[in-house]
Amino acid sequence: MTCDLCGDDAGDRYLCERDTVILARHLDELPALDALLLMHLVPSGGGFYEPVSGRGAGPRAPVNEDVLNLLHTNRAATVVHARRVDVQRVRWPQHSAPPPSGLPADCRWLAMEVEWIAAEYPAAGEMAREVHALRRELLSLGVEERPARAGLCVAVTDDQGTVCGAVLERLPGRSLRCRWCGCRYVTEQDLALLEHYQPKESA
Ligand SMILES: [Zn+2]
Ligand SMILES: [Zn+2]
Repeated sequence: MTCDLCGDDAGDRYLCERDTVILARHLDELPALDALLLMHLVPSGGGFYEPVSGRGAGPRAPVNEDVLNLLHTNRAATVVHARRVDVQRVRWPQHSAPPPSGLPADCRWLAMEVEWIAAEYPAAGEMAREVHALRRELLSLGVEERPARAGLCVAVTDDQGTVCGAVLERLPGRSLRCRWCGCRYVTEQDLALLEHYQPKESA
């Protein structure tokens, strides 16, 4: 068969290997992108929904109407959940439909089933196009995973006490992990230690 998405040879599957990997990655990214929508409601430098003051500002609210609309309809969560219901119905017709469980849980579930979807789910191409469209929509609103600096890695990397010292970057909605040494900062205690051992800035 040819891949439903790109038309390349897909063996006996609906999606080629490359498009299967991309679909899994986009499912993984979607919840964090969706969560970032909320931040975009806060006008920079102001509080929530502060009226625009000054001449010529007019009645326009300082929030992005498209963002409000997406949030209001909760579209990503609705679309992805409907897809999960359908995949489960095709795969396990005897099971009852899964209850609403939120976008992150639905994306995780679908990502875990992605190999089955690519091989056995007749609407795999349609699903991939749907997920890519949601992602494009979020990105087009200026929602981006911009990493924020989170200090220097304080992990000890050898038995001489050498400290890693790499710059840590945090992606919104993800846990903090050093890209150099792989050290994770997850618990409150990890983060407190990270803070404590930051080199003091010379004032
Ligand atoms: Zn393909
Ligand atoms: Zn490190």
